[in-house]
Amino acid sequence: MNEALPSGDAQAAAAARPASEAKTPAAPAKGSLPELVRFDKVTKCFGEGPEARLAIQDVSFVIHDLPDAGELVAVVGPSGCGKSTVLRMLAGLRPHFPPTSGEVRAFGKPITQPGADRGMVDQKYSLMPHLTVRDNIAFGLMLRGVSRKERRDRACEWARKVGLEGCEEKYPSELSGGMQQRVAIAATLILEPKILLMDEPFGALDPKIRMQMQELVVQLWKEQQSTVFIVTHSVEEAIYLGDRVLRMGAKPGRLVEVLQLPRPDVSPEMMRKKPWFNVLSQELLRRLETDAPASGELPGLEKWR
Ligand code: ADP
Ligand code: MG
Repeated sequence: MNEALPSGDAQAAAAARPASEAKTPAAPAKGSLPELVRFDKVTKCFGEGPEARLAIQDVSFVIHDLPDAGELVAVVGPSGCGKSTVLRMLAGLRPHFPPTSGEVRAFGKPITQPGADRGMVDQKYSLMPHLTVRDNIAFGLMLRGVSRKERRDRACEWARKVGLEGCEEKYPSELSGGMQQRVAIAATLILEPKILLMDEPFGALDPKIRMQMQELVVQLWKEQQSTVFIVTHSVEEAIYLGDRVLRMGAKPGRLVEVLQLPRPDVSPEMMRKKPWFNVLSQELLRRLETDAPASGELPGLEKWR
């Protein structure tokens, strides 16, 4: 189990959680679990002097490494509140990394640079246009010196896993946005990162494809048992996908609360038909739109458990 560190608004968030944490008795005591990610009073300021812009302030939280199970952490908040900054900081990507003050740790050690243990998928699919689907998926393996035969086999296996069987020889320009995003996901997951970072990965997709992709992510993430951070503008996506939702606020960018949610056991389409799911979504939307202070568990949650 994880915790928001007591700092500013996150303190209130931490206070809001014990009721929900009590519902997961199977998890070992968090003190005995290794830390996967720790943000400790992380502040990032871009620029200096009168031009300085505070991106995030005093963001603190901890995600523990659950045995044999990753966790899906959804990050929501208004535009400009620092969601991408948090993810890119974790990825060790400049200029977001390093923080101006505070510390970011992964696997118990301070982050110093990008690493294969943290894979990033963002809104721009960042595929290589001159490479086939198979070679795009296998690209990272090539950089690692994996043999041609093994690269081929593993890339084809991943093409199948993301539903692109038969498209291995196609080029990105021949694919729809949803299919390109599947390639990007496969190209990242094939490297088996312990932490998968997704920054609004489905933002450009139409609602039907988006739901298919959500199901795919849930399925792959269960198989890989990696921890996933996903930034999303959609409250439904956050509630459906998230074991945990980090709600951020703007001006300055900060962590407002950490909500804990059950795992989905039905498709997003089924979920959307349930009245209580709409109650949860409406409440999260209200909190986001009004920048409400930490308000504890979402009403209607008891119907999901
Ligand atoms: P979000 O992803 O929530 O929309 P960002 O993390 O992208 O927010 O940005 C947070 C704040 O930091 C914004 O005010 C943004 O303008 C600023 N910012 C982000 N990246 C940079 C950058 N490379 N240089 C200067 N300011 C930046
Ligand atoms: Mg962003």
